Amino acid sequence: MVTIRAYHRPTTLAAALELLARPDVEAIPLGGGTEINGLPGRVPSEVVDLQALGLADISRDGATLDVGSMVTLRDFIEHEWTPPLLRDLARREGPNTIRNVATLGGVVATADPESGLVAGLLAYSAVVSIAGASGIENVVLTDLVGGGKGLVGSIITSVQIALGGDGTFEATARTPADTPIVLVAGHRSDDDSLLLAATGVAATPVLIEPDGIEDLRPPPDFRGSADYRRHLAGVLAARVVGRLPEGGPA
Ligand SMILES: Cc1cc2nc3c(=O)[nH]c(=O)nc-3n(C[C@H](O)[C@H](O)[C@H](O)COP(=O)(O)OP(=O)(O)OC[C@H]3O[C@@H](n4cnc5c(N)ncnc54)[C@H](O)[C@@H]3O)c2cc1C
Repeated sequence: MVTIRAYHRPTTLAAALELLARPDVEAIPLGGGTEINGLPGRVPSEVVDLQALGLADISRDGATLDVGSMVTLRDFIEHEWTPPLLRDLARREGPNTIRNVATLGGVVATADPESGLVAGLLAYSAVVSIAGASGIENVVLTDLVGGGKGLVGSIITSVQIALGGDGTFEATARTPADTPIVLVAGHRSDDDSLLLAATGVAATPVLIEPDGIEDLRPPPDFRGSADYRRHLAGVLAARVVGRLPEGGPA
């Protein structure tokens, strides 16, 4: 949670970046505000609301879906072009009160360790457009989530998703509605390559390899030890691979 000291609503990307770049002023982008307003911790900050920047559209260029960073989870779920796997995972990203307000940019920037949607986007090799002082840069989501590219002073403008292929996920939770202890999402693209990503096995959602499960070092908590989570990751990954056979369904 942030103690908001000043609120800005710029109408151009350039003005928003200027507000974020002021020396000696702590300022952060405001997406839907569900994380900024809702979670524990108090950091005084100015917020730069992105809602007047025109970043809430979903468009399509051939087989690539371009989702503005201010598209809410609700609109992403309801859009006809959203791949079914990502729709299902977005639906699990909190109750409708959160989904009505939280944005795709906020989900990606937060990269919550338990975000199944971020795992799904990793499996889809999503690319994130980030506006900063030196212009707009396109970054593979893995690099952003893995910490290779920081977001300080930058704004996620959109997320690109290559359509096609087939995706599915498997999860184990204490109850059907609970946040999964471990979730594995998989996407087999039209060129038959398969990517798997998991939550609950690292500090953020990560890409995983079926042969590399033993090397994972999951952070344990009251819901599951590191060993249990590793075991779950192996079982769930095998199920996902089984449901996405090479060459498509038999
Ligand atoms: C009750 C509750 C339940 C939750 N459940 C879940 C859950 O199940 N799964 C989950 O993953 N998360 C969950 N969250 C956390 C949070 O809701 C999500 O991460 C959320 O989707 C964040 O989106 P937002 O648009 O509201 O982000 P905001 O709160 O506006 O911002 C979050 C962070 O992202 C930055 N940011 C936002 N947009 C951009 C942008 N375009 N460019 C650069 N930085 C940006 C902000 O500066 C801030 O640091 C929950 C939160 C609450 C309060």
